Amino acid sequence: MTGTAVPVAPQDLYIPETVDRLRATFDSGVTRPAAWRRRQLRALRRLLTDHTSDIEEALYDDLRKGRTESHLTEIGQVLAEVEHALGHLDRWMRPRRVGVPLNMKPATARIHPEPLGVCLIIAPWNYPLTLTLNPLVGALSAGNAAVVKPSELAPATSALLAELLPRYLEAVAVVEGAVEETTELLAQRFDHIFYTGNGTVGRIVAAAAAKNLTPITLELGGKSPVFIDETADMTVTARRLAWGKFTNAGQTCVAPDYVLVTEAARDSLLAALPKAIGEMFGPNPRASADYGRIVNDRHFRRLTGLLAEGDLLAGGVSDAGERYLAPTVLADVPQGAAVMAEEIFGPILPVLTVRDVHEAIDFINARDKPLSLYAFTHDREARQALLDKTSSGGLVYNAPVIHLGAPNLPFGGVGESGMGAYHGKTSFDTFSHRKSVLSKPTRPDTLRLLYAPHTSRSFAFIAKAVSRTHPLVGRKR
Ligand code: NAD
Repeated sequence: MTGTAVPVAPQDLYIPETVDRLRATFDSGVTRPAAWRRRQLRALRRLLTDHTSDIEEALYDDLRKGRTESHLTEIGQVLAEVEHALGHLDRWMRPRRVGVPLNMKPATARIHPEPLGVCLIIAPWNYPLTLTLNPLVGALSAGNAAVVKPSELAPATSALLAELLPRYLEAVAVVEGAVEETTELLAQRFDHIFYTGNGTVGRIVAAAAAKNLTPITLELGGKSPVFIDETADMTVTARRLAWGKFTNAGQTCVAPDYVLVTEAARDSLLAALPKAIGEMFGPNPRASADYGRIVNDRHFRRLTGLLAEGDLLAGGVSDAGERYLAPTVLADVPQGAAVMAEEIFGPILPVLTVRDVHEAIDFINARDKPLSLYAFTHDREARQALLDKTSSGGLVYNAPVIHLGAPNLPFGGVGESGMGAYHGKTSFDTFSHRKSVLSKPTRPDTLRLLYAPHTSRSFAFIAKAVSRTHPLVGRKR
């Protein structure tokens, strides 16, 4: 058939070619040795130190992040993850010997971690550096090649990563763009997809991955509750709550979303919260160098639309031109209020009153499993009840957000808040396949009893080997 050739859009070619090129690099075997992995991690560390001021600038442009906050929650987080990986890589990579059952001896069994191949990392805008590079630390530690797709909603950071990552790293490509480019990426075959963002897109990622049976990690969000009772140290509680909630103007996946305070603790919390906010951001948070802005107009409109219900205890002031929304606390919010329907992801803190921890547990369990649950209480029974009777990605007593900084704790959600986890060794495991390797000598040929023809002796042996509770063996535990 002849006809006019259909013009090919440049990205139609460049995305598949990019993935093919990385696959060829991976298939060549260069990414496997520990020395290569360490070189990539050191190069990433160099990127962060050579370009610290460029990164600070990009984060300021995208989210008006202050310098200290940028170091605390972005640059420092990635550096810490790199250092941790460099310090533990040899141990993580070492094959682990495990025992074999008596009837299989002689034999040796080992678990060998091996890289998966070419991984895709799709990142969101709220911590555009950390949430792109921390998964990448895991992918590189595990010896993979990777395509990174930063968020188009943090364009300055995205452009900087696109410029720098390929200059410093040998098997990493950056694809910038939005839905069209991500859709094209998801049409390719990857060996792992690591997605951070909202659950609606999480489902799109899962459906695309299913076509190739590609394993996925979904780091999603949701409403992370805070329980506070009268045993809490209210001054420190209010300070920590204000810090955890209003850092990055509330645009943090693990930010406290709403507070369930007991009747007995309500008044002291409501007195302490505005004070803590004032201490942190001054009488006019708009002028504070430590207070961020809302990422775009759509989110700004969404957030200001949530202020209608509840008593305004603090904040509420906004300026559309700057996308400024003051740190806001709403007291006595009705359960059915719009602000309680979906993840807030902004600087609005609704406070609801509950009778006791049991009512709080029922409230939490009537909703999706959260990414984090925070409990400010010194009541041991209340702490235990929250641990035993609720499910969440993480549970932190007496502080919000800080569990992210503990590399030995897997970070991830459960149910609607996600699947899979990362940070520290968990990242290495996420981006590795644990290959089971069993080695058996040929002589003596202890497998002889398995071969046909089977006799009553071999039947008894096999029954015993298969199950210790088999009727012929008769031993029950
Ligand atoms: P976002 O809009 O930047 O989207 C995330 C990524 O998905 C981007 O790279 C974007 O290009 C891509 N994307 C968007 N629409 C798509 C589509 N239709 N098809 C394919 N790809 C698409 O970020 P977001 O989703 O607004 O991020 C906020 C959400 O992420 C919140 O729910 C938050 O709780 C969650 N989050 C979770 C974590 C975590 O670690 N669990 C961290 C940060 C944010």
